Amino acid sequence: MSTVIVEKQDTPRDETGTGTEAKSPREGAFGNATGLACRECGHEVTLGPFYACPECFGPLEVAYDFPAVTREEIEAGPRNIWRYKALLPVPDDIETSPNTEPGFTRLLKANNLGRELGIDNLWVKDDSTNPTNSFKDRVVACALSAATEFHSKVFACPSTGNLANAVAAAGARAGIRTVVFIPSNLEKPKQVNSAVYTDSLVAVNGNYDDVNRLASEIAGEEDGWAFVNVNVRPYYAEGSKTLGYEIAEQLGWRLPDQIVIPVASGSQLTKVHKAFQELITLGLVEDRPYKVYGAQATGCSPVSVAYKAGVDAIRPVKPDTIAKSLAIGNPADGIYVLDVCRSTGGAVEDVTDDEVREGILLLARNEGIFTETAGGTTVGVLKKLVETGQLDTSLETVIINTGMGLKTLDAVADHVGPAATIDPSYAAFAGSGVV
Ligand SMILES: *Cc1c(COP(=O)(O)O)cnc(C)c1O
Repeated sequence: MSTVIVEKQDTPRDETGTGTEAKSPREGAFGNATGLACRECGHEVTLGPFYACPECFGPLEVAYDFPAVTREEIEAGPRNIWRYKALLPVPDDIETSPNTEPGFTRLLKANNLGRELGIDNLWVKDDSTNPTNSFKDRVVACALSAATEFHSKVFACPSTGNLANAVAAAGARAGIRTVVFIPSNLEKPKQVNSAVYTDSLVAVNGNYDDVNRLASEIAGEEDGWAFVNVNVRPYYAEGSKTLGYEIAEQLGWRLPDQIVIPVASGSQLTKVHKAFQELITLGLVEDRPYKVYGAQATGCSPVSVAYKAGVDAIRPVKPDTIAKSLAIGNPADGIYVLDVCRSTGGAVEDVTDDEVREGILLLARNEGIFTETAGGTTVGVLKKLVETGQLDTSLETVIINTGMGLKTLDAVADHVGPAATIDPSYAAFAGSGVV
């Protein structure tokens, strides 16, 4: 299956700083991928460290020519994302290169939360159990493979926190130099979770969009740097497809009726949709309609605002929310999120920071899963979608928990704590009012 059928053109001039003089990738380095295709004009270029179309500057995306792939072949693979390697831009021997081996996380039936919210059939895809406790390990594993094939010297990223954790850990395992950039106001646990793996955590006085601009500038100045979400972004983004594949496989090779996904840059949401479409095209699941919903925090909700206004243009915002991992004010894939949510009959919704906290506690107290603020946003939006009648509660629904609550303790630390502090005696306990 080729995403776009166009004549292959020249390799674009390298504006990324990754260096056209770099050694070429190995034969078969990108598996069944055939090229990079522009999502706007369809123009196709060779597989290289490129992310912008040389014709129209639109974003490039990996295009494939998939062979026949069977459920049995996938099921016989490792219990991590490489079971889907035939559908990713990675070499056939990917299991042999050191990486964090993310994926195949739990899909849990959430009966208690479903009852609480009035949803008949609810599942949580719990990606907080990945090696560095967020879904970012998936995308980074794919970016690392590309960076290795491009012989990059430095593995880097601008990050809202989780990505830096994943890049620093994966780079450590692969033995490649890492430099990770974050906004300086980031939660302490996310800083520590990077700094343990790398001596090159750079805190930038600015918000994520400032950090991202700086990363692009560095990529233009320095040779041999692979910025996972900048100049190798097409390969990085494909990693999110594995969430979609896993959900379908874990449901017994079936697509859910509806799915709620948090939106920062919007890459994950669009790639889960791409994964569902690929599974249909490959005949691995039945072709049936499903709705995709996007979740944002009100303090950084440029996609939700555009959705509600019924417009296509995303107006960038200055983020102000506790959901820092979603705090991208100028989301690269925002317009594609609008397209996916509208065309599937879903929606994009946003919730306040108080509702984010409530969402964290709803998931924790009903399902025993401690999510970070991004997951609180997703649960909060799920609740709001039900309350506003935008989500059909009789349909099978999946939500994605993308990260781990221990990284954003501050969000709830002042709202939960000991029910009582007592002396160690039965009388004190009996008088405490706890039971
Ligand atoms: C990065 C991130 C997201 C959103 O990812 P995008 O693909 O940029 O939309 C969601 N949840 C968590 C925890 C993240 O770290």
